[in-house]
Amino acid sequence: MAFTKQQLLGLTESHLIELYPNHKVHIDVVNAITDLQKASREAGFDLRLASSFRSFERQKTIWNKKAKGQLACFDKNERPLDISACSPFELADTICFFSAIPGTSRHHWGCDFDIFDFNAYPAGKTPQLKQSEFTPGGENFPVYQWLLKHAADFGFYFPFTQTHDGVCPEPWHISFKPVSELAQKQYSKHLLIDILSTQPVLLADVILKYIDYFYPKYIGQYHV
Ligand SMILES: [Zn+2]
Repeated sequence: MAFTKQQLLGLTESHLIELYPNHKVHIDVVNAITDLQKASREAGFDLRLASSFRSFERQKTIWNKKAKGQLACFDKNERPLDISACSPFELADTICFFSAIPGTSRHHWGCDFDIFDFNAYPAGKTPQLKQSEFTPGGENFPVYQWLLKHAADFGFYFPFTQTHDGVCPEPWHISFKPVSELAQKQYSKHLLIDILSTQPVLLADVILKYIDYFYPKYIGQYHV
């Protein structure tokens, strides 16, 4: 099934069904994700979704709060950053390391998920999705090792593994390739230019001015 522009940008839910309370997923991913979760339980884990579909509106709220300093921004070492010292370009560049520009999140597609092992957390403790939870000794390190071996059997892969320039590595983010590669093929720089030109996204002017810096660094290499 081809994606519409609205679906690629998170502006509609027409491609989704609600699989769990507060978790909408692409209709063509239901079997794969539930099969993966079942297999995880057979292996002694309990793979749960921390994040599934996220709308353009939700991503815009997160982004705009960070741009206004209402939500903490972090540097590449996960330390809080003083944004008052940043130029608009530096601020956009910093936010992009951890948060997608609204309209570019792979979570808009419904086939990408942030996951954690529910069994690894004591009651009352919630996953933060930090690197330390996925490295040796971290709560999700065992399920991450299991996923590295078995996720591909179910069609999933980790799109954010690059440790060089670009987006923060996300060992918690998996993607159902048969569907996400369709979205990747259809996505283009022009979609982003259109949406940033028409929606009230803070810092849109600086991103549009330097689109040939932002697009390949933060979107292109993760969408192809
Ligand atoms: Zn994610």
